[in-house]
Amino acid sequence: MAKTFKNFIGGEWVAPSTRRYITNTNPADTSDVIGRFPDSGKADVADAVRSAQRGFELWSRTPAPLRGDVLRRVGDLMSARKDELSDAMTREMGKVLAETAGDVQEGIDTAYYAATEGRRLFGHTVPSELRQKWAMSVRRPIGVCGLIMPFNFPLAIPTWKAFPALLCGNSVILKPSEDVPHTATLLVEILLEAGLPPEVIQLVHGGGEVGAALVEHPDVPVISFTGSTATGSRIGEVCGRMHKRLSLEMGGKNAQIVMDDADLDLALEGVLWGAFGTTGQRCTATSRLIVHHKVHDKMVRMVVEAAEKLRLGDGRQAKVDVGPLIHEEALAKVERYVQIGLDQGAELACGGKRPRGKRTANGWFYKPTVFTGVRKGSRLAKEEIFGPVLSVIKVRNYEDAVRVNNEVAYGLSSAIYTQDVNLAFRAMEDLQNGITYVNAPTIGAEAHLPFGGVKQTGNGHREGGWEVFEFYSETKVNYVDFSGTLQRAQMDNYE
Ligand code: NAD
Repeated sequence: MAKTFKNFIGGEWVAPSTRRYITNTNPADTSDVIGRFPDSGKADVADAVRSAQRGFELWSRTPAPLRGDVLRRVGDLMSARKDELSDAMTREMGKVLAETAGDVQEGIDTAYYAATEGRRLFGHTVPSELRQKWAMSVRRPIGVCGLIMPFNFPLAIPTWKAFPALLCGNSVILKPSEDVPHTATLLVEILLEAGLPPEVIQLVHGGGEVGAALVEHPDVPVISFTGSTATGSRIGEVCGRMHKRLSLEMGGKNAQIVMDDADLDLALEGVLWGAFGTTGQRCTATSRLIVHHKVHDKMVRMVVEAAEKLRLGDGRQAKVDVGPLIHEEALAKVERYVQIGLDQGAELACGGKRPRGKRTANGWFYKPTVFTGVRKGSRLAKEEIFGPVLSVIKVRNYEDAVRVNNEVAYGLSSAIYTQDVNLAFRAMEDLQNGITYVNAPTIGAEAHLPFGGVKQTGNGHREGGWEVFEFYSETKVNYVDFSGTLQRAQMDNYE
């Protein structure tokens, strides 16, 4: 009998009010059941908000350096349990162990970065225009933060949101993806063991119903969402109406550009890692390969030959390069897009089907797939697939490459491979993305730099780095007039 997991609300592990559960299985082998997790409802969210409000009273008055100390202990515990966390993550999400270890490391880095921020959280002290008057800004906590996560980074993304939110003195309600609830449960256990006061954190498992209830709750002033652009748009409408502070991190259609002077071996390694790492299920996945016509045929031959050699299987086994997709629906979506590609005249260079064989028989596997002759403006060239499908687009020159990169609705990451330093700097200006890599793949963000995209990928906020602390805190300005007289700004100096 599968283990039954609970929500963490009001300082204790509790069953959902709905008494409903979602069974969580291993996408590499669906006969491996991880457990039954709550499929919670609105009443659970309401309980979580009430508890988080109590947690906020306590935590917002705790000095920021002490809040940072808790996060440092969280980082220590995550480091000590890195193998256990990686293994649990691969089991429920599917990406290979090297990648889940990277996901955990990103959480550890975020914990230590946030911990040190407890001794900064800078405001400004600036001269006042009036005599004997002091003017300064400080950062204040906001309240209860509702954090809604996708499935593809089961630990890194919750930590990107929760750690800065907590450091800034807020309380937090975590709503993990219903596809990866186990990793979030382990994270909450670690936060509690590190000494976070129980009502500062709540964990409410479930699907869109829980997410929507959080977004619509009047006492949750901050929402941070990472997921699809379709869901993000709906959330944006509600938050706009309710005047909530909202951070949206959404879809991508990222491209790697290969110029005619590029180191093709390096470009090959980059595109394999970018397109097929995490089975293409990264927001920063390389979905398009834009290649200069002079090296196009050679590059395609190299990519196809290497893609065909990638080994599919359970990410917990040695010598596996590519794991499964997250679930049957994701696999069906990839199959739909392959058909769309064929219907719109693209040529299938490799893949395009499910693998055969015992190793992949019980999971949601799909062969690394490469399309060539993908027309500019076709659906393969424009839409996010979120699977192991790479579309190759041939271009005439640099200007053409930039145009193709920029003509999609999304703007998360881009990459350019060239030996020309001037061209590399031009690309940093011309490519319309939140992140551009030169001679490196479209994936590989570092925890201490801001992360996010332009256009329909985001709404202007960033996660990670120094900017995220502004999102999770309110700027307050304090003026102190110690002159003992009434001084009037904008007037007394200019009479
Ligand atoms: P999704 O939009 O299906 O789900 C994301 C979360 O939203 C889940 O927790 C889900 O339960 C919840 N949700 C669903 N309906 C909701 C509603 N009506 N109100 C509130 N919450 C709701 O996304 P997914 O399939 O889990 O993740 C894949 C998507 O995430 C891709 O589009 C990918 O590009 C994007 N993503 C973006 C980034 C980034 O930083 N830009 C990072 C990772 C993933």
